[in-house]
Parts: sequence; C-alpha cells; structure tokens
Amino acid sequence: MKYYAENILLTDGWSTDKTITIDEGIISAISAGKAKGAKVLSGPVIPGMVNCHSHAFQRAFAGFSEQGSDGQDSFWTWRTIMYKFLAQLSCDDAQVIAQQLYIEMLKMGYTRVAEFHYLHHDIDGNTYAKNQAEQGLAMMAVAIFNAAKNSGIGLTMLPVLYQYAGFGRQAPNEGQKRFINSTSQFNQLVSDCFVLSKQYPNTNIGIAPHSLRAVDKDAITQAVQHVRSLDDQAPIHIHIAEQQQEVDDCLRHYKKRPVQWLLDNIELDQHWCLIHATHINSQEQQGIVDSNAIAGICPTTEANLGDGIFPTADFLALNGTLAIGSDSHISVNPIEELRWLEYAQRLTKQQRAVLASVNTASVGQNLWLKAAAGGAQSTNSNTGALAVGKQADLLVLDPKQTSLFANKNQHLLDSVIFASQSNTIKDVMVNGHWVIKNGSHALEQSSATNFAHLLAKLSA
Ligand SMILES: [Zn+2]
Repeated sequence: MKYYAENILLTDGWSTDKTITIDEGIISAISAGKAKGAKVLSGPVIPGMVNCHSHAFQRAFAGFSEQGSDGQDSFWTWRTIMYKFLAQLSCDDAQVIAQQLYIEMLKMGYTRVAEFHYLHHDIDGNTYAKNQAEQGLAMMAVAIFNAAKNSGIGLTMLPVLYQYAGFGRQAPNEGQKRFINSTSQFNQLVSDCFVLSKQYPNTNIGIAPHSLRAVDKDAITQAVQHVRSLDDQAPIHIHIAEQQQEVDDCLRHYKKRPVQWLLDNIELDQHWCLIHATHINSQEQQGIVDSNAIAGICPTTEANLGDGIFPTADFLALNGTLAIGSDSHISVNPIEELRWLEYAQRLTKQQRAVLASVNTASVGQNLWLKAAAGGAQSTNSNTGALAVGKQADLLVLDPKQTSLFANKNQHLLDSVIFASQSNTIKDVMVNGHWVIKNGSHALEQSSATNFAHLLAKLSA
C-alpha cells in the first residue's frame, strides 16, 4: 500500500512531498513525490508514541483520590485507596478497563504500550483455576492481551514479580495478595505469556521486577535469566526511585541509594528501563547513561502523586535515553506528559525552552522524537520512528486544527504540545492498519458503555 504525505516527520526532521510504501505493516520505501495510486494522507504525519509504563486497571479510579483529608495525603495514602479498589476487580472487569483505556490511548497518539502487569490472582489471592483454554496463572494476562487485540494497540506485556511488602523480605500485606508469586511460579507465568505473545499479533513480552522493596537480588537474577532464555533482548522494567521514602528505606537496608544499588548489583543493558528514576544524584545519572539503560518518566503521575521532579535537562545533557509513560492514567495524553516534562524544568530552573537540543531547536519536536525512540527501545519493538524498515505506526494530524496554530513545520510540534486546546490527532495507523479514522475507533461506543456500567457497579 502506498500513501502520500505532504509533510512528514522523519528521524532527521520534517520532510515534504513523500510517498511511503507499506508492506505487511512495515515501511518498505520512502520516495520523493506522489507515486501513482498513492492514497493522500490528509494532514501532517508524525510517528506514533510509545507508552513505556501502564497499570491499566488504575484508569478506572483516576480522579477518585483527589479529595484532601488532613493535609497528610501522599503516594502511600493513594496506594491504600488503590489496593481497596483493585480488591473488587474480576478478570472481565480488567479487560473492560484495559480495552477502554487502550482505545483512549490510540485516540491520543500512543500506538504501543508496555503493560506493567501485577494483578495476577483472583479476589481471594488464589491462583485462578485452569479453565478449558488451559489458562490459570495467566488468566489476567489474557484479559490484557485481549484488550490490546480488540483495540489494535501494540502491546509489550511485562508480568510483574512481586514478593515482599518492604525491604528485608517483609511479608506482603492483605492488599498485595493478588500480586504475589514464588519465583518459579512467576517464571511459569512468563513462559505462558511468551506463548500468548506468539498467538497475538504485534505483541512481545519482557518482565518487571516490581521494585527493590518488593523483590531481592536472587529473585531478580533468576527471573532475568529465565526471560532472557526465551528472548535474549526481552525488556526488563523496574520501579526504582519514585519516592524519597523509598530512597531512605533503601539506604537504611542496603546502605546504598536504589539506582546505585541496582548499578552495583545487576548487569543492566539497553533493554532495562528504570521507571521513576526520579530521585537520583549525578553519579547515578552517569551510571544509567553508561549502562545504556533507559529512564522511564511519567510526568503527570509523578506530579499527581507528589513524587518529585526527574532531572531531565541534566540527564539529556549526558546523552541519556528517556521514555514516557502514563502510569496511573490520571492523564492519557503524550502531549501532556511532554508539556509537563518541559514545564517542570522551566519552573525549577526559571528558564525557557530547556529541553531543546543543539541539533533540534524545537522543544516539541526534540521531545517527541526522543520519547518515541526511547519508548521503542524500552519495549524492544521496531517502532518509534518513521524510516524504512520500521513498523508503520503513525499519526495523521488534523490540518483544520494545525492550520490554526502553526503554518510552518518547524513550529508544528511546539504548537501541538504547548498551544493546542483539543486533540489534534485525526487518523492513527498501527502496524499498517488504521485503528482510528476521523478521530473515532470502531469499538469506542460499546467499549465506553461497558466501562461506564463497570464504574457504576464498582462505586455502588
Ligand atoms: Zn508504576
């Protein structure tokens, strides 16, 4: 299939008057001019964004924890509300939420998601019984795979290894019983998900040791060894330094800060993604860059939960790789993540246009290209850029809207990120298939109805 784009953002910047040829979901050629028979894409074309961090079920209670009590609300009080909420969720509920969420993601420009999946067991904390389809351990994972398939989003499934309530192998609490697996049971779950990923198109798997408070070195090492025996480039994600209290607890237990402990004890590589590397010193920043690992930053969630500010400007100056995620889904919008990424730096430094680069003066363009490429690396997926050989994951912007705030390509992504007042994305293609046309998804109405019913049931 051939498509013509008047304006298209390639890896080295904007280009005009191009035909892209797509074969079996892959961009096989990009040529000058309009090829005969090429379908015209109606607006500027940019690469789809990769969402490096999602806990799908959390979308269903986004906004439910914004009522202050005694001035003592924090990440930890939010977590208590989250545990109460998830205690009621069935497998079917999880699929309804994830499908609605993934459709919302596609409409806002995320074409792939890394699902940091830790809700494994039934409401009593028992492993789901095997049904006729021989699922048991992977029942909840199947719900996520189905949601991704129905929505059309690309999925990197990251089953989460969760064993303890805190440093020093503290026994898990009641709210955590649905997350817990022995290492051997977890490795079986990973194997089951690996088989599933072969059955569902445009999916792959990795793992996520939850955090240094929830797993120890032996368990991390065994889990990494197992997943890498299935796929030697499998992504590995970990929550690392989201909260100051987590850093303090780690210092008390391991006598090291979390990122430093990880650097000193585990061999990192370019397929490791350190989610919320929020609280890091300059030595840890350099250590992440030297290891080739990625920093996974979730600016709106980190703001919402009062986590802290990642030193993005310093990290990018070291040539660090970053990706963005929507995490708790308080916002499902890559534009808002990137806007906050820049604004947090402006407010901290009392400067402007902080996250531009020597090669790319446009903050918006620089951040979009870097976050998409970093996200692709964090999911080990052939996405995140429009180039020959890459998967055709692309967004077509609405020219009626973009013409109102940017008449030059050099300003386009700045205006979209900092000045747009509504969604500018018109059409979305994933792996060569149109999943959003004219701002709509084929299943959006039925999905929204199911989701609204579920919310009414859960809050009843
Ligand atoms: Zn998270």
